[in-house]
Amino acid sequence: MNTQSAATAPEPGFTLSYGYGTDRGLSRELNEDSLIAVDPVFAVADGMGGHEAGEIASALCVRTLGSMPQLAAGVRSATAVGLQKCILAADSQIRSATGGRAGTTLSGVVVAEHMGVPYWLVMNIGDSRTYRLSAGDLRQISVDHSEVQELVDAGSITREEATVHPRRHVVTRALGTGGENEADFWLLPIQEGDRILICSDGLTGELSDEHMFRILCTVEKPQDAVDALIQEALLSGGRDNVTAIVVDARIAQNDAEEAGTRSSQ
Ligand code: MN
Repeated sequence: MNTQSAATAPEPGFTLSYGYGTDRGLSRELNEDSLIAVDPVFAVADGMGGHEAGEIASALCVRTLGSMPQLAAGVRSATAVGLQKCILAADSQIRSATGGRAGTTLSGVVVAEHMGVPYWLVMNIGDSRTYRLSAGDLRQISVDHSEVQELVDAGSITREEATVHPRRHVVTRALGTGGENEADFWLLPIQEGDRILICSDGLTGELSDEHMFRILCTVEKPQDAVDALIQEALLSGGRDNVTAIVVDARIAQNDAEEAGTRSSQ
């Protein structure tokens, strides 16, 4: 697609700005989290497995996604079916590299345009998370694949109890382990002012949703918001590797026909 033809048939353009960061935390020897933040792919992978295997699993996961032609920089035609194929490719890469000794979670968004409409294609496997702050409301979009999530769904414990439950770190789905490797997907139209947060459980294990909401609402620049989130997680104990990506979307106003737009002339 070139910009010349876009000018004659205007599309609802939008711009993304984003920031990202990761920290080993205060008690882990290694950082087994990995991330990718190259438009159109924004994702966090949290590796598990000893002797650096978790690190290999999460790094291979994001590297495989980043190398798929369907997800190449600037390509915004991803579908859930295509993305699941990429995720299965990552799964088999990890299994052949680690022999099933290691696994990784994966959560994030792929930016996709269908019929000129931009979408967040949200993906998740495991217990890293994708949230959306939209119209002043912070919602967790992904649903954890974890034992405590199953207990919450069954009504056995509350969401608050899940945050301190002894088995809160047990994931029920991961890539590379030879178990179930299907991801869940959500397709959300991008709204003006949307802010996406993608993070590993080292962030959500330390900060409540309310705490993250306050930071995301008050810190304007995505990179500053990421830095503040990670800093707060470390202040709260930093018991796990902490990784966060914040992506902001701004819908471009095409011309003066746009409602609410006033030219200064
Ligand atoms: Mn973790």
